[in-house]
Amino acid sequence: MAIGGVHTKAEGGPAWWPDSGRATHAVIDLDAIEGNVRAVRRSVAPAGVIAVVKANAYGHGSVMVAEAAVAAGAVMLAVATVDEGVELREAWIDAPILVLGPADPAEYVDAIRNRLTLTLATIDQVDAVAQAAGRADSDAGVQIKVDTGMRRYGAAPADVLDLARRIESAPNLHLTGVFTHFADADGPDLHFTGSQLGRFETVIGTLRDAGIEPGLAHCSNTAGAVRVSSAGQGAVRLGIGLYGLRPDDTVPLEPGMRPALTLRTRVAQVRLLEPGDTVSYGRTYMASAHERVALLPIGYADGLRRGLSGSGWVDIVGDRAPIRGRVCMDQTVVGCPNEAVASGDAVVVFGDGHGSAPSLSDVAKLAGTITYEIATGIAHRVPRWYLRHGQPIATLRGSRLQRL
Ligand SMILES: *Cc1c(COP(=O)(O)O)cnc(C)c1O
Repeated sequence: MAIGGVHTKAEGGPAWWPDSGRATHAVIDLDAIEGNVRAVRRSVAPAGVIAVVKANAYGHGSVMVAEAAVAAGAVMLAVATVDEGVELREAWIDAPILVLGPADPAEYVDAIRNRLTLTLATIDQVDAVAQAAGRADSDAGVQIKVDTGMRRYGAAPADVLDLARRIESAPNLHLTGVFTHFADADGPDLHFTGSQLGRFETVIGTLRDAGIEPGLAHCSNTAGAVRVSSAGQGAVRLGIGLYGLRPDDTVPLEPGMRPALTLRTRVAQVRLLEPGDTVSYGRTYMASAHERVALLPIGYADGLRRGLSGSGWVDIVGDRAPIRGRVCMDQTVVGCPNEAVASGDAVVVFGDGHGSAPSLSDVAKLAGTITYEIATGIAHRVPRWYLRHGQPIATLRGSRLQRL
């Protein structure tokens, strides 16, 4: 396949553009991913960074992101499901991988054979993992999730000592970590976060007093890593910040951290509307005068939210182009910002907020959601291009990763 590329003028994203393949694509700047890991490592040291690459690395593509994070010194990777962990192992990623969520007991053997660290919260799970380790004829490292206030997955603080003893008494299991998760570390008031931290520290103290080494102790997500002391934590779990996005607009990132992903396409066709013409399903937009509009080969099935119909905008060669009418499954119509717009022109759908393209945060606000949902909503069918020093080094089409 030709890997030639061209430099196309468009604000708000890398200069390199693919010159073949589907017009709609995402570019992921691996230098940004690495820089983000390094910036957080510096600020939380001596604690380490666990790179959270669940949900296909928040839509960025898990294998290349995981490799970049490990290259930048992440001590561990975290995923939500066993399948996500297995995908990384099948790509020959050797770093420790923590499965954050509860797994089905039917997945335990597969998880252990792939050296995935399961997260446990009940005695029954400990017994089932010990059995599975027996069947896999292998030892298994496991971690305990403590619920200190999130009221999601986890063991009650009072139950952690029994759980840890049960793990220690199983000859093939090792406790490699204990962690909790903050419910409100990105909120305006850190009081509740402080009380969660207090409960967690009490649990760790109780284990140590009982002669049990808890292994890696970790609490902070991105917001916690930035706003809460990491003293007493062996690592922080960096999710949204790994991608250079803020957990909330009020939460700053470390200096130098920046978004890695830009979603782009090209103008497929330019049309001229007559006054009174309506655009797209439901005829929600009517031209009041002669108007040039551009067709974009991207829709909600690519991750351009339908909620942006009539309110969102994109960048065409540096200028703001408003979405006209409803976003369709595969296509969207936008108003042309100037007479020069032509088929093939570069379009930035969303990016790092430079130029006139919206940032992921702008898009999230318009769609009534958070950047997490916008990033994870970028569809499987959108090809990803990975850049290093501004040049492509790999592409991901569906689940096919090709190194260039
Ligand atoms: C997703 C997740 C994270 C990452 O959170 P961010 O806000 O994206 O940094 C950390 N810990 C757990 C348990 C998670 O599920």
